[in-house]
Amino acid sequence: MTEPFSQQGLKFLDRNPPAFAMDSVQTMAQHLFGVEGDFKSLNSERDQNFRLAARDSRFVLKISNVDEDPAVVDLQTKGLQHVARVDPTVPVPRVVTTKSGQAWAHVEGPDGAMHMVRLLTYLPGTPLGETSLTPALLRNLGGGLARLDKALRGFTHPAARHELLWDLQQAPRLRPHTASIVDKAERATLEKWLDGFIDDVLPGLARLRGQVIHHDANGNNVVISPDEPNEIAGVIDFGDMIHSFMIADPAVSAADLLMGEDMLEPMGDLIAGFDSVLPLEEEEVDCLFDLVVARCALSIVILAWRNAAPDGPGYLEGYGPRALAAMEHLLTMGRAKVRAHFRKVCRFAPFCPQPGDGGLNEDSASLLERRHHALGKALSLSYDQPVHVVRGEGPWLFCADGSRLLDAYNNVPQVGHAHPHVVRAIARQAAALNTNTRYLFDKVVDYAERLVATLPEGFEACQFVNSGSEANDVALRMARLVTGNQGVLVVENAYHGITASVDEVNLYGRPDWVPPPYVRGLVAPDPYRGPFREGDGDLAARYAADADRAIAELAAAGIKPAALMIDSGFTSNGVPEVPEGYLASVAEKVRAAGGVVIADEVQVGFARSGSHFWGILTHGVVPDIVTLGKPIGNGYPIGAVITRRDTLEHFGDVTELFSTFGGNPVGCAAGLAVLDVIEREGLMENAAVTGAHLRDEIRGLMDRHVWIGDVRGWGLLIGLDLVRSRQGREPASDEAKRVINHMRQNGVLVGREGPHYNVLKIRPPLAFQKQHVAPFIEALDKALSAL
Ligand code: PMP
Repeated sequence: MTEPFSQQGLKFLDRNPPAFAMDSVQTMAQHLFGVEGDFKSLNSERDQNFRLAARDSRFVLKISNVDEDPAVVDLQTKGLQHVARVDPTVPVPRVVTTKSGQAWAHVEGPDGAMHMVRLLTYLPGTPLGETSLTPALLRNLGGGLARLDKALRGFTHPAARHELLWDLQQAPRLRPHTASIVDKAERATLEKWLDGFIDDVLPGLARLRGQVIHHDANGNNVVISPDEPNEIAGVIDFGDMIHSFMIADPAVSAADLLMGEDMLEPMGDLIAGFDSVLPLEEEEVDCLFDLVVARCALSIVILAWRNAAPDGPGYLEGYGPRALAAMEHLLTMGRAKVRAHFRKVCRFAPFCPQPGDGGLNEDSASLLERRHHALGKALSLSYDQPVHVVRGEGPWLFCADGSRLLDAYNNVPQVGHAHPHVVRAIARQAAALNTNTRYLFDKVVDYAERLVATLPEGFEACQFVNSGSEANDVALRMARLVTGNQGVLVVENAYHGITASVDEVNLYGRPDWVPPPYVRGLVAPDPYRGPFREGDGDLAARYAADADRAIAELAAAGIKPAALMIDSGFTSNGVPEVPEGYLASVAEKVRAAGGVVIADEVQVGFARSGSHFWGILTHGVVPDIVTLGKPIGNGYPIGAVITRRDTLEHFGDVTELFSTFGGNPVGCAAGLAVLDVIEREGLMENAAVTGAHLRDEIRGLMDRHVWIGDVRGWGLLIGLDLVRSRQGREPASDEAKRVINHMRQNGVLVGREGPHYNVLKIRPPLAFQKQHVAPFIEALDKALSAL
């Protein structure tokens, strides 16, 4: 169907409406439909229409032009009947059938030709075009159109794809008729734009949701309630009904109704209203701009063609110039701005430009300034050039300037940024219910059962909170309660969270800090950098002996250990290669002194190690309490404490712990979905395989880069110790900073860790796969070469 529309396509050129005499119309109405009353002739280009005020209702009697295609009338009639059946609250005219139950009748006109006659109910109200278009009214219009489209979703008809000049999908057939545009510059603009639309936009639109739509919700075809000025009382005139992109309905309405100055905000109101009833897809929102411009362009061409016909001049006078002005206005605003606005009102993330598009969002500098104002300057940002992100997918982050970054740093998006399964689970649960654990609902129980099943036997009681810090805070309270002791052992430079009690046990980045007497730091078991190295005998025993020292110090102050709190990945110590048996030995000593073992799995839990679901199990230690945070919700804030039933019950006997948000159904849905993905996508195995490959490749750089002192880790948690010389192992701290910034500039995110901040921390989402290793290595190689 690519041949141009023929002159016959311009059906409305026929301006010979039927000319029935009033008395014959009255007789016909009485005879066919059994209605009588006052008839008033209505304006129509092609048909002959009457308003009929009967005793207790009003109708519109439509006598169709002789050229009218009965199949198209049938489409409209069936469409209206479908809406009435599916959602009777959508205000559209009702089809009144003839006495014999037909939707229309054929009647011979004064010209001797046969005309279709139909009766519809009349919807009273003020035409939208005659009222002031407030934001509330436009939102209601959008909502009304959405309700109509929702009702029409399942409707099909053989004539749904009939020939229609105004059909955006048939723009290629209209394209040759730009020849009718008299003004050369105007014609050139139109042709250039239409060619771009036809070649670059239209093919992609075939992916959008399609259905039969009204397709002509302009100022004449929508009426508002006489009583409620912001209420839509009716959508009428289904003459342009067609199967098209659903999104074309609000697009056509926006173009026709709002053409003029300052269309941006009003269009946004209309779209927001539509989206609130029938949620739009991102692609639909992104093509709206083009559809609105296309509608203006089509109007301009059709009117020019129409006006070029012998009886043409004067047709819809003023409409063409307005459409042209609107098109120019839209093009001046530009696709980027309009699209950004539509995205904003629908609460989609800002548009993510493609590389080369240039920055389309608020520029990073002004955002940074606003941030300093709103959040204070103390909240630091990573990297010399802050990362201004707008979206993520798998291990990728996409920036406002169109660049993309390979994320080898973040473990919160454990199964990958914006994983669709997790996103859907969150959205679906949020759409159904979000409440607290004082009520009975399934998700929290499902989630607790699934979590417990991943742990060794005996772990059967979950307490849900909102963060890793809260989990550690609760775990410390539990440990103190069940042991009756106060002391806490932590590893030097360890970090466990932000609450007041957890902060007391944080030794991270505080070498000179004197912790409270009941907190003791243990020397980190780091055979590369610590006091005991290769050749120093039984390293596990020598490092573990430090626990004896700590316990003795506590004892000297009259304190017994309540707990050892341990991140078994020793992440903030730079992911050292912990001597085998070390942790089991420390755990034994702590337990012997009356304490319990709290495994802080916030960093290392959830399959990251590649060999075990829980980090501490890689050390052969079964803890007493496990705390979870960060990765378990893939970004949705949830935290949990899991322990044995007797521990939790003991705790519960003494104190009631209730967290308002902890264990809420949406968080649990996120958590369940994360577990699904880890299982379904085999992410633990991926962590093992990809992690090993990544380490091998990094080690492969050691020949060329003397900066690499040591490469270690497990699964997808890797520490790369940078040194000024391999001999002296002097930490290359500043150099590490330069490396992470250089890599960031080259599109790869890593962090640095360890007491000297000289260890590159490589801890990507578990969606990081083999194909991501090469770009990572390339960026690392370049950064090291640049030192
Ligand atoms: N424990 C560890 C080991 C952590 O790394 C962190 C956060 N980085 C926390 C606890 C605290 O978690 P949150 O920030 O969710 O409170």
